[in-house]
Amino acid sequence: MIIVMGIPGAGKTTVLSETLRQAKGWRAINWGDRMLELAAAKGFAKGRDEIRKLPVERQAELQAAVADSLAREEGKFVLDTHCSINTPKGYLPGLPYGVLGKLPVERFVLIEAPAESIIARRRKDATRARDAQAAEAVAEQLFVNKALVCAYAAFKGAPVAFVKNEDGKLSAAVEALRALLG
Ligand code: AMP
Ligand code: MG
Repeated sequence: MIIVMGIPGAGKTTVLSETLRQAKGWRAINWGDRMLELAAAKGFAKGRDEIRKLPVERQAELQAAVADSLAREEGKFVLDTHCSINTPKGYLPGLPYGVLGKLPVERFVLIEAPAESIIARRRKDATRARDAQAAEAVAEQLFVNKALVCAYAAFKGAPVAFVKNEDGKLSAAVEALRALLG
């Protein structure tokens, strides 16, 4: 499995779906879909943007259940998930070591974009209840994500690569991700 991560608004789902249209033999699994399925079944949340507001212990329980379901998956897939979750109590690591220990990870990819682009994209996305954040807060989470993905890579002994998804340069990001799937 290859794990693709990025802050909300970085465009990870967009870059990933476009890349997988071109890359044969790979499928995508969206962590948020599984988390929402579990949370909805238990009556904890109705929408995907409610999950990060749940008590952190509950999010951690759901996270562990998603990890168990992913550990049972077979074949080649790209996992679309978050490096950190911006909860009201602070940044929750998306892949704590207990979770990572269950997953056979080949490599990590972090999709990045400038803070100003992230803010503008969130504002435009009417399908989601994205958090409206100041540039400093976005910059802080970008830093946290970079630090966390390096920790994940060190824990697994797997490489980490950074893909820039700048405005108007989606095809360059897709090309870069495609080269990493190899
Ligand atoms: P997404 O549609 O990718 O934004 O995912 C929806 C929601 O799922 C996110 O806002 C998080 O609350 C949750 N989520 C996704 N990945 C993880 C993860 N690795 N750990 C905990 N929560 C996650
Ligand atoms: Mg997404």
